[in-house]
Amino acid sequence: MAKIKSRSAFDKELFKRSVLYNIKTLYRRTLEEATPQQIYQAASLAIKDQIIDYWMDTQKALEEQDPKIVYYMSMEFLMGRAFGNNLINLRAYEGVGEVMDELGVDLNLIEDQEPDPALGNGGLGRLAACFLDSLASLNYVAYGCGIRYKYGMFRQEIHDGYQVEKPDDWLANGNPFELRRQEYAKEIKFGGYVKMYQDENGRTMFKQEDYQAVKAIPYDLPVLGYGNDVVDTLRIWDAEPINNFQLDSFDKGDYQKAVEQENLAKQICEVLYPNDNHIAGKELRLKQQYFFISASVQTAVQKYLKNHDDIKKFYEKNVFQLNDTHPTVAVAELMRVLMDDYYLEWDEAWDITTKTCCYTNHTIMAEALEKWPQDLFQRLLPRIYQIVEEINRRFNIEIVNRYSNDPKVSIDEKIRKMAILYDNQVRMAHLAIVGSHSVNGVAKLHTEILEKRELKDFYEMMPEKFNNKTNGITQRRFLMHANPLLANWCTKKVGDGWITDLTVLSGLKKSADTAKAQKEFMAIKKKNKERLARYILQHNGIQIDPDSIYDCQVKRLHEYKRQLLNILHVIYLYDKIKTDPKFDMPKQTFIFGAKAAAGYRIAKLTIKLINSVADVVNDDPDVDGRIKVVFIEDYRVSNAELIFAAADVSEQISTASREASGTGNMKMMLNGAVTIGTMDGANVEIVKEVGEKNAFIFGLSSDEVIEHERKNDYDPMSIYTKDAVIKKTVDRLIDGTFSKDKELFRPLWNSLLNTKDTSKADTYFILKDFHSYADAQARVRKAYEDKAGWAKMAMLQTACCGKFSSDRTIEEYVKDIWHLDKIKV
Ligand SMILES: *Cc1c(COP(=O)(O)O)cnc(C)c1O
Repeated sequence: MAKIKSRSAFDKELFKRSVLYNIKTLYRRTLEEATPQQIYQAASLAIKDQIIDYWMDTQKALEEQDPKIVYYMSMEFLMGRAFGNNLINLRAYEGVGEVMDELGVDLNLIEDQEPDPALGNGGLGRLAACFLDSLASLNYVAYGCGIRYKYGMFRQEIHDGYQVEKPDDWLANGNPFELRRQEYAKEIKFGGYVKMYQDENGRTMFKQEDYQAVKAIPYDLPVLGYGNDVVDTLRIWDAEPINNFQLDSFDKGDYQKAVEQENLAKQICEVLYPNDNHIAGKELRLKQQYFFISASVQTAVQKYLKNHDDIKKFYEKNVFQLNDTHPTVAVAELMRVLMDDYYLEWDEAWDITTKTCCYTNHTIMAEALEKWPQDLFQRLLPRIYQIVEEINRRFNIEIVNRYSNDPKVSIDEKIRKMAILYDNQVRMAHLAIVGSHSVNGVAKLHTEILEKRELKDFYEMMPEKFNNKTNGITQRRFLMHANPLLANWCTKKVGDGWITDLTVLSGLKKSADTAKAQKEFMAIKKKNKERLARYILQHNGIQIDPDSIYDCQVKRLHEYKRQLLNILHVIYLYDKIKTDPKFDMPKQTFIFGAKAAAGYRIAKLTIKLINSVADVVNDDPDVDGRIKVVFIEDYRVSNAELIFAAADVSEQISTASREASGTGNMKMMLNGAVTIGTMDGANVEIVKEVGEKNAFIFGLSSDEVIEHERKNDYDPMSIYTKDAVIKKTVDRLIDGTFSKDKELFRPLWNSLLNTKDTSKADTYFILKDFHSYADAQARVRKAYEDKAGWAKMAMLQTACCGKFSSDRTIEEYVKDIWHLDKIKV
C-alpha cells in the first residue's frame, strides 16, 4: 500500500495509485465514475494507511520511553473536519492538492464531503480539540476521553427567520479515520444497591448489586502532530447492550431488565446536549458523564498496570485534566477503582486521586454551575455517592480544623458555602476542587474573579491549588488551513517557524509600516472577503460588497454575549440613515453566525430579530447598500474558518466579567481582524499584546458590573426614559418596523425593561453600554476610512497574537501542572 512520507517528500505517485486502487476495491468504479463522496472516502483511507504506521510507532515509543501522559477528559470535542487537517499535519496538503489537480478533482470539493464532527457546543469543546492538536505537535502523549454521540450538535436551518434544529447524522457515511477497539470494552454499572461484606482477610468490601449495566466500546480517532510523526488518540465511547437481547431472559424472569438495559444502551450516547454555559440537569446527562468517565478511568488504570506494578505510583505516570465540572465523577470513580478493585485504603487512594486530578473552571455564571439532586445521584450511582459522602465528611472536618480557632469565622457559614453535599445537592465544582491538586481559570481576569470572588473561600483555604492558564488556539487549523493565502505570505515574510512557534509572527511588526506589505496584506484580506461573499451568495442569496467592512459576531447565541446589543446598534444606524438620507458612512456588512440552545426562548427570538432586521434593511432603497445584515446558517468549525479569514472587525462584546476567556477573539486576531470589545475574558490580554490604540474598547469594566450587581442599583428604565435615542431604538422592537406582529419581539423588549420585576431588567447591561458601543463603532468606521492606518492595524493583529497559540497554553499546563515528558517517534 502507498506510503505518504511526512518527513521526506510526499510521494505523489504512490498516493495517486492508492486513491485509484481504493476507488476500485471499495466501489468497483473508475475515478471518472466515482462521486466526490467516494473520492473523499478513498483518499481518506489512503491517508489513514500512513497514519496508522505513525500511530503504531507512537505506541511503541510510548512503551519504550514510558513518559507521563495526560488524559484530557471532556464531554465535548469540537474537532471540525479531519481530512484537511490531517494532510496539513502530515505536511502533505500541497502534494495532495497537486495530485487532485492532476486527476481533475477539486480538493475543496473533496474536503466538503466530510461532515463536521461536531461533538461539542462551542468554545469549551473547541478548546479540547485545539489542545489535542498542540499536545501531539509538541511531542506529548495524550488521550482525549469523550463520548461518541450518535448525533452531535444539531444542524441549524433557518426557516422564515427562525432557527429549526435538525439531527446531525454525522456518521451516515461512516467515519473513515476511526478504529473500533472491541478488545477494550468495559462494563459500566448504574443503579441497584451497595452490598457490604467482609472478605477472607476481614476487610470490609463494597459491591454494587442488582444494577443495570451497559457495555462501553471505544472508538479511536488519530490526532496527528505537525510534522513530527506523533499520533495521539481521541478515544470516544459508544454504548451497547451488555448481552444482546437473550431469549433465556424470559425464562429467568429477567425480561424487564433485559429490555431496560437495552434501552439504556440505546439512549446513553444518542445525542449531545446542545446547551452552552447552561445546565440541563437531566438524569441522562449524569448517565453520560459517569458512562464515559468510568470507562476512561478503568482503561487508564489497566493501561498503567500493563507496564507498571505499583498502583500507588499511578500519579507519577498519569494525570487527568477535567474540562469543566462535567467529568468530575472521575474523582470518585478513581477512588472506587483504587479501593474496590485494587484494595487500597482510603488515605492511599485519596493521595493518588488528588495527585492525579486537575480541574479547569470555565465559567462563573450561576446557571452553568452543575448541581445534582442528591437523591438522583444516589439512586443512579450508589457506590459513587457513598464515596462522595465520605469525601464531603472528611472535607467538612478539615474546614472545622482549619477555622475552629478563628473567632472571626463562622464554621456553619463556611460549610454552607463550601460543602460538597449541601441542601440535598451534590455540588460538582466543590468536588472537583477538593479532589484535585490544581484548579485553573482560563484567562487572567477570569482567574482573578475566581480567586477574589466566586471561589474566594476555597482560594483562602488552598491558595496553592489555584493558577491561570489563558486559553489558546491552534494556528495549524486557524491560519494554515483556514487562510492559506495569509499563511503563505507570513512564511514568505518571516519563514515557516510560526507553524510551531507562533511568536515568530512578531517579525511582521517591522513590515506593518511599509506600503508594500500593507497592500499585500489587504489584497489577501480582500481575496478572503470575496471567498466569503461567494459562500454567502450561495447560501443566503445575498450579495455583499467585498469592499465593505466585514463586522463579524460568530459564537453561540447567549444573552451574555450580547448579540442583542449588536443588532440594536444596527437598528440605530438604520434609523440614522432613514432620518438623515445623506448620513455618510463606509459600507458595513454585519455578519452573524450562532446556534441557540433548543430550549432557550430569548436566544431563539434574537435569531429571528437579526433575520427580520436583515430583511428590512437589506432591501430598503434608502439604505443604498450602506448596511447589510447577514445571518450565516449552521455556524460550525468549517464555515467559521471562512469567516475568520475574511473578518475586518471582531465583535467581542460580552458583558464584562461574564466571558471566561473566549477563543473566537483569538482566531479573528490571528487572521488580522481588529477587536471591538469589552474588557472581558482574554480581550484584556489581547489589548495588552496589540496595544490599546489598535483595539476599540468600550463599556463597563468587570469591577463596575460586579459592583452594580452587589449594590443592585442599575436601573435601565431611567436610561430609557431619559435618553431619546435609546428609547427610539429599543421601541423599534415593538413598533412594527421589523414585524407585522408588534408583540413578536416584546419578550426582547421586556428583557431590557422588565416592568414587572425591575431586578430582572437588562441583567446584561445592554442599555448602560449602548452609547459607549455606538461610539466605538463610530471610531471603527473612521479608522477604516484611513486605508493605510487600517492596514497597519490589521497586520499588527496577526503580528501580535503569538501568545494566543494553544502551544503556549499547553506548555504552561505541562510546566506548572502536568509535568509530562516529551517522546520521540
Ligand atoms: C472558536 C469557536 C467557538 C468559540 O467562540 P467564542 O467567540 O469564544 O465564543 C465556538 N464555535 C466554533 C465553531 C468555534 O470555532
